Amino acid sequence: MSDQVVTRFAPSPTGFLHIGGARTALFNWLYARHTGGKMLLRIEDTDRERSTDAATAAILDGLTWLGLTWDGDAISQFGRAARHREVAEELVRLGKAYYAYETPAELDAMREKARAEGRPPRYNGQWRDRDPSEAPEGVPGVIRIKAPLEGETVVHDLVQGDVRFPNKDLDDLIILRSDGVPTYMHAVVVDDHDMGVTHIIRGDDHLTNAARQTVIYQAMGWDVPKMAHIPLIHGADGAKLSKRHGALGVEAYRAMGYLPEALLNYLARLGWSHGDDEVMSVEDMISWFDIADVNKGAARFDFAKLEALNGVHMRAMDDGRLTGLLLETLPHLPYGEALADKLTDKAKAQLLQAMPGLKERAKTLVELADNAYFIVADRPLVLDEKAAAILDGDAKGVLKALQPMLGALPEWTAETTEAAVRAYAEQAGLKLGKVAQPLRAALTGRSTSPGVFDVLAVLGREESLDRINDQID
Ligand code: GLU
Repeated sequence: MSDQVVTRFAPSPTGFLHIGGARTALFNWLYARHTGGKMLLRIEDTDRERSTDAATAAILDGLTWLGLTWDGDAISQFGRAARHREVAEELVRLGKAYYAYETPAELDAMREKARAEGRPPRYNGQWRDRDPSEAPEGVPGVIRIKAPLEGETVVHDLVQGDVRFPNKDLDDLIILRSDGVPTYMHAVVVDDHDMGVTHIIRGDDHLTNAARQTVIYQAMGWDVPKMAHIPLIHGADGAKLSKRHGALGVEAYRAMGYLPEALLNYLARLGWSHGDDEVMSVEDMISWFDIADVNKGAARFDFAKLEALNGVHMRAMDDGRLTGLLLETLPHLPYGEALADKLTDKAKAQLLQAMPGLKERAKTLVELADNAYFIVADRPLVLDEKAAAILDGDAKGVLKALQPMLGALPEWTAETTEAAVRAYAEQAGLKLGKVAQPLRAALTGRSTSPGVFDVLAVLGREESLDRINDQID
């Protein structure tokens, strides 16, 4: 056996790829990349009522957006039902599992009785050692695993340490239903074994399942993969993560204008740390990630931190890449289409030119798109409230006096327009802001924007003078 690490991400396609699932996928991916191993993808679609193709598509789309690639084709758990059945029957042959024949009503009565006697509502094992010839006629049997009755089952967890489960608490679980459909618990074990998974990294809500699954591995005489159960993500207030806290699909984060690398950086730091490092590239994370550094305590999701980190990643990003990413993301942003519809090749070039100033003032792509809108805005510009307040009578007078000086410039750049504006302010005895603010309001319709001389350069002579004129007339 090779000692290549094989991890897997195993989402249930009952909804979007939510933020907790994305973090689980990221840890599996990072560990595989870090060790030169593989990450496999298994869609756990055994629950036919709740699984949908739309959810599978949304999960694949979310992973792809984040750049969390998987090796080989995604595997459908449902598609492997015949193999799960085969292993269940093999366990019966090995004497490690047995057919049981209770009707639902009998099982209800058994549970009621246990409850009344103050015992946990477990299956009583009455078919464990009975001869199959005693099977009642017309009642289809289920297959149950023979869980050990004494001692304990230990999950050797790389994050939680050794977690001990007294065997008297483990039930003789059903592994194959009477209609021949495998149960989820059984399917997971057979799949992980057959896929050669060496490391199972998942949320710690699966820790009890790990004990039950260990029983099935041991019954088959299979090696138990290494387990790492990572603490769940909580809200900033410490409560279980809800929608209000950010328990949304990753698509919602794309629509909020977060960069994939910033979200990955944030998710990596939710439950894992590398010294005091906060800002990391994907390459950094790959080279630094280790299961040993996964934290034991629950992580808290904090939107403000994610946003700040996103701003850092945006500012650090190459202008060309950031412009490309913004263009790609526009269809996903609220009102993004409004900008996308107007982006001629010329406007795209202007966007790139304005990017150094734009990215300084935005924490998300939504803000970036909003701040960039002035480039394509139709004349006469619609002023926002603050810009309208700036452009009072005095300010219009300033623009009127400034306009011919700008119009006379032989060359139109950020430097030449700045020199002209400064010269005018000096001559008129005005502070620079008294000239620059009305100019900005006239050019962008806003009270904040990238540096006003950069705005002049990006818009060009004709458009700039026309926008100034619109406010004077
Ligand atoms: N399908 C399970 C879930 O989405 C994960 C199971 C596992 O990782 O073993 O929670």
